[in-house]
Amino acid sequence: MGEWSTVYGPVPSWRLGFSLGIDPLKPPKTCTFDCIYCQLGKTVKKVSKPEDVYPHVSTRKILKDLEKTLKKVDLKNVDYLTFSGTGEPTLNPNLGEVVDEVKRLINDKPIAILTNSSLLDRETVRRSLKKMDLVVAKLDAPNQKLFKKINRPSNGITLTSIIKGLKSLRKEYSGRLAIQIMFVKSTMGEKLNTEKEVVEGLTRIIEKVSPDEVYINIPTRPPSENHVTIPENQEIEKISKMFGERLNWIKVVSRMATSKTWKKMEKKVLEDLEKRIMETLKRRPCNLKDLTEIFGVPEKTLSLHLNSLVEKGKILALKYQGLTYYKLANL
Ligand code: SF4
Repeated sequence: MGEWSTVYGPVPSWRLGFSLGIDPLKPPKTCTFDCIYCQLGKTVKKVSKPEDVYPHVSTRKILKDLEKTLKKVDLKNVDYLTFSGTGEPTLNPNLGEVVDEVKRLINDKPIAILTNSSLLDRETVRRSLKKMDLVVAKLDAPNQKLFKKINRPSNGITLTSIIKGLKSLRKEYSGRLAIQIMFVKSTMGEKLNTEKEVVEGLTRIIEKVSPDEVYINIPTRPPSENHVTIPENQEIEKISKMFGERLNWIKVVSRMATSKTWKKMEKKVLEDLEKRIMETLKRRPCNLKDLTEIFGVPEKTLSLHLNSLVEKGKILALKYQGLTYYKLANL
């Protein structure tokens, strides 16, 4: 059985180039939200605060994993070190200490975090975030009703506290702050956040927070709920235009605009991951769970790569005691 690692990648990140990921939480997914579009599936451990998560992943474990990865990965091929993974990274109270220690190992590489913003009203969390070069903070809805519908937060987490936290962070933090919005639609006819008045509501909040950038995002992987779909390109263009006009001093980046670069990067990572899977299978056959733990990649993503290798005839899938094992075809 491969050892579970808190460090994964480098993986292509839509806005951050090639990113070496640090997941400060232990699988299964632990989050303060259960977003309808989450690519990690349903939230297994839904919590309200860091104190609800026990045991925490230790700083020592993360540093050990990073040191091990840095023996194999050349930092020249990494654009960012990014805290993100199987849930909300600010749920680990060791985060600030981890960042301080990680900085000693990665020279000048910039550090980013993808957060859902739910814990930003906590001074301790903001203190950790201030150590980052870039904070990408989620904001998908301008009112509590829609916030509950899209993000399905834990008890006690309100949009008001999130906005308050975002404003406090902006005041205290001199690094780059980006607000990321995931725009989604529903096949069940439910009105979500692409409606004109919703977008206007979002621009008003963002105006008050005054981040450096706004990322307009769409789900590119299978969502947690089947009825969630991607808005049409024209809708995203319209939304980007509204943001651009209302917030003309803030840089607005939409997913559509960079999709070509993204596809190129995904292709490269697919090739790299497949090479690494083959290297691992050279040593011994593994099942899906083993490989998920070795690579720190979600099962769904890994299955796609494994199926592609089986189709190319490079590996074989064999059933053994109710599990599917993969081995090299020419062994
Ligand atoms: S905040 Fe992120 S990890 Fe948590 S449920 Fe939403 S999309 Fe998934």
